[in-house]
Amino acid sequence: MKLIKILFTLSCLFLFLTALNVNSIIDARSNSTPITNSNYTTDFFWEKLLPFQIYQDEHLLLGNPSSANNYKTNANNYLIIKHQYALSYNNDKGYPNWVSWHLDLSWKGNAKRCNCFSAEETLPNGFFKASSNSYAKSGFDRGHLCPSEDRDATAEDNAATFTMSNMIPQSPNLNRITWVALEKYCQDLITQDYELYIIAGAYGIGGEGSKGYTEHLNQGKITVPARCWKIIVLLKNGPNDLQRINSNTKVIAVDMPNNNSVKLFPWEHYRTTIDDIEQKTHYDFLSNVPASIQQYIEKNIDDLPSKH
Ligand code: MN
Ligand code: MN
Repeated sequence: MKLIKILFTLSCLFLFLTALNVNSIIDARSNSTPITNSNYTTDFFWEKLLPFQIYQDEHLLLGNPSSANNYKTNANNYLIIKHQYALSYNNDKGYPNWVSWHLDLSWKGNAKRCNCFSAEETLPNGFFKASSNSYAKSGFDRGHLCPSEDRDATAEDNAATFTMSNMIPQSPNLNRITWVALEKYCQDLITQDYELYIIAGAYGIGGEGSKGYTEHLNQGKITVPARCWKIIVLLKNGPNDLQRINSNTKVIAVDMPNNNSVKLFPWEHYRTTIDDIEQKTHYDFLSNVPASIQQYIEKNIDDLPSKH
């Protein structure tokens, strides 16, 4: 009888350690290997197999807005999952449809801004890959979606934000003034006990940079978007983030014009509803949140009560 008890205890311990080990493979924070698309399949396997939730796909926890996948035939909605963020790449536009990432203080540190712009080498052969100078002399900035400042725990994390698959052509005043102001607002929130889920992207054709209205760059390989949007879900720090989202959860959504006049108003002026951005992009945001809750939190414009 005693032996059975010991065996039982040992097998429980084994299962527990196995679970921990799986978790450490999946938890990007605990290893330096980027989560690749093939890992994604493995994650999915574990997610379905394991009877309890040790799985957390950090950057896509709230959903995959365009049901992107990593089939090479799906070049305009091609999923890339990295340790630092996840994205859907659009080969015809030469920039991402969206980038999604979790932000809390654990991502912050003292790594220097690397300014090491580079092509996205993980794209399959045959895909268009913008290079570090594809936007040169165009009148548009290489605008980060996942900001450099959101990923400065390590030099490697920071460098990951400089791949061109995380960039869109942004008017200088949008990139340097209005867009960055909202990025700073988010970085401020995480020092006040918030953790954030952020999704950002662009839509439409044609923006106004420092050389005037432009629809394409790089011999037509890169589209200039007309509008840039961002969605932010605010939670107080804690576990089980998805389960904690309810009809009182704060969400901020903005939709900004990609032109130099954007700076005439502060970022708050461009607030809108998630429903509005869903309608314009045809994506479904927060799809892992129960529909009844989505319905509620996606229709309101936040009044920024979190404004401390
Ligand atoms: Mn959490
Ligand atoms: Mn939705």
